[in-house]
This record gives sequence, C-alpha cells and structure tokens, in this order.
Amino acid sequence: MSTIGQSIKIENVSKFYGSFQALDTVSLEAAPGKFLTILGSSGSGKTTLLKIIAGFEAANSGQIFINGEDVARKKAYERNIGMLFQNYALFPHMTVEENIAYPLKLRKCSKAEIGERVNDIIKLVKLDGMEKRLPKQLSGGQQQRCALARAIVYNPPLLLLDEPLGALDKNLRHEMQFEIKRIQNELGITTISVTHDQEEALTMSDKICIMSHGVIQQCSSPEEIYEEPKNQFVAEFIGNTNLIKGVVESKKKESDCWVSMVKTGLTEELIRVEEPLDRRQYNLDDVLLALRPELIHLMKEREGHINSFRASIVNSVYMGDYYRVLVKTRDSSELSVKISPEAYRKYAGEKELEFFFNANCVTTIYEKEKGVILKTVEDRFIPAA
Ligand code: ADP
Ligand code: MG
Repeated sequence: MSTIGQSIKIENVSKFYGSFQALDTVSLEAAPGKFLTILGSSGSGKTTLLKIIAGFEAANSGQIFINGEDVARKKAYERNIGMLFQNYALFPHMTVEENIAYPLKLRKCSKAEIGERVNDIIKLVKLDGMEKRLPKQLSGGQQQRCALARAIVYNPPLLLLDEPLGALDKNLRHEMQFEIKRIQNELGITTISVTHDQEEALTMSDKICIMSHGVIQQCSSPEEIYEEPKNQFVAEFIGNTNLIKGVVESKKKESDCWVSMVKTGLTEELIRVEEPLDRRQYNLDDVLLALRPELIHLMKEREGHINSFRASIVNSVYMGDYYRVLVKTRDSSELSVKISPEAYRKYAGEKELEFFFNANCVTTIYEKEKGVILKTVEDRFIPAA
C-alpha cells in the first residue's frame, strides 16, 4: 500500500463572514508528502482555511491548486481529501472495521478490496485484535487511531487535521503525534495540520505557517521560525523571548551592508548589527533586540566576556531539566533565562550573578517597523584566556 501525496498551493485566499474578514490574502504551499502546520491562536482563521481547502466553505477570492489543478469547481467529495477533526465522531453503532470500511463502501470498492485495505490500515494504526469492538469499547487514543484509519483508508493524496489531538491528555497526545507522523511519512500523504500548540507544530512539521487574525505572518521550517523569526509577532509567539530595548548610536555603510552600533541598557558594549544593503534601509534610532532565554548563559567566574551583565534572581521555577529564572538587571530590566539544575544549585544563593550572551544570537527588530527583523551577525564572543 502506498500513497503518493499531491502538492497543494493556496493563493491569495480571502474570506469574509458578513463584514468580518476571517482570512486576508492567505498564500501558502506544501510540496508532495510534506507536513505543513498552520499555527495560530483561537479565532485566527485556521478552521476556516481548512474548510475552504476541503470544499465546505467557499472563499471570496483567491485560488486553491491541488496537484497544480484549480479545485474551485470541485465539490468536497470530488476533492478526495482525508480529514480528521477534534470531535472525530466515529459511528457509535459500527465496529472498528465497519467504521474504517465505511469510506470504501461509499466509494463502491469491491468486498475483497475493502477486506484487504481495512486489514492493512488496521495494522498500520496498531488496532489489530480490536476489529470487532465498538468505539465505546476503545480508549481515547484508540478511538483517535480508528478515526485516523477511517480518514486515510481510501488513500487520499491530501490529509487535513484540525486539532485532532486537542482532547487527549499530554502523554497520549505525544504518542499520537509520533504515530501520526510515522503513518503520514510511511504513506507519503501531504498533510495540513492546524493547531494552537507550538510544541506540536515544532516537533511534527516540515513547514510551519504562523497565522494571526487571518494573516499569515511567516511560513518557514521550524528551525527558521524559531531562530529567524520574521517579525515581532512571530518572535514572541514561538517560544519565550526577551525583548531588549536598544538605541542605534551610529550607522555607516560598509562594503555590502549597513552597520549599526546599538546601545542597550544591558551591557557597556555596543552591539554591532549588520543589515544587507539590498534590504530597505531602516533609518531608525530605536530597536528591540530579541534574545532567547537559552542563549543567555550563566558565567561561572569572571571570564572577561564582552557582552556580560550582572543581575539578581527575582523568581525561579523548576522545570525538571532546567530552572526557568527571571532575573533583574542593574537598570531594572527583567529577563528570562534558563539555568541548569546543577549551576542553579551552586550559584542561586549569590546576591548577584553574572551572565553573558553572544551577539550573533541576537535578532534585531526595528521598533517602528514591527514587520522587520534583521539579524545581528557578528560574533563577539571572546573566549576566556
Ligand atoms: P480558528 O480555527 O483559528 O480558531 P476559525 O476559522 O474557526 O478560527 O474562525 C476565525 C474567525 O471567524 C473567528 O473570529 C470566528 O468567530 C469567525 N467565524 C468562523 N466561522 C464563522 C461563521 N460561520 N460565521 C461568522 N463568523 C465566523
Ligand atoms: Mg478551529
């Protein structure tokens, strides 16, 4: 059994409910067999977009191409898309195998073919031995697997998942994330998944599209979303980040870039920010520096690091593999840092601790242009002698 996923491309899709705009010129694309996640908070328009892809809702404008073909004229059932939603509603009076066979019966497959396909898929989702059970005789996770089997049994080239794991407890959710990913990979089904859970998005996806108020903010690999957020919204939405105010002290043109020296209240040093010449020049004085908590390190001794600062602990939370610590700098800015349990226990008793960061770990946001982030490229790390 093998399915070859098809490509999907969404171009400038807008949707209004009355005068309310739920989707604003949304464009995204997924290559065959890839797993794309749309990540956004509740009400951002995720379900609306999936309904439009599935053919349950019509867009006001824009186009959807599946395998290069515009599907505007195709009805939902003609699009042949597999779907799994949060309330996955198995038929309560049908057994596991009857539930899974249902879409094949609708498609008028032969009895032999149905038997074989149902058998294969039951093995794939690891429900062997439970064929004759009713949904109520299954655990939440097993019901979810059964619903997944029903969604993919007819080899759809495209699978849509609308927060299907939302109702499961944490351990089960992790297990199902792993299972869905395994099955999706094995079959090569192009998948668009919708979630508000950023961890789920980071762990499952080839590509993440961050959506806010019906607008796609960034579509990139998980690594790029986390390490190179395109704007302030994305930087703050994914993971924790410290936003540190800075002022541009000087700016000059150097061969192929503009170079700004930025002063923050954090360290004595100016931080050097390079921005490629081919970008518009942002002639602004105020910037925000985005610095992830895990990129701020506790200095064990005075190591003479250039970007170091002193701060005291305001509060801390034990997270198991690290302490999440809020510290206050001498100029009263508060920063979130991560400290290993080992280091925490050794140093937390001290009145003030010294921290450092590498300037190339900082991303720079030009504050009056919240849509723009430029990367700080220079590594100012000076190793301890
Ligand atoms: P999400 O799935 O991201 O939580 P939805 O796509 O369900 O978001 O909804 C996006 C916005 O559109 C919400 O503000 C919601 O209230 C609104 N909305 C969704 N469906 C309808 C509808 N049928 N009529 C009017 N407004 C709707
Ligand atoms: Mg929704």
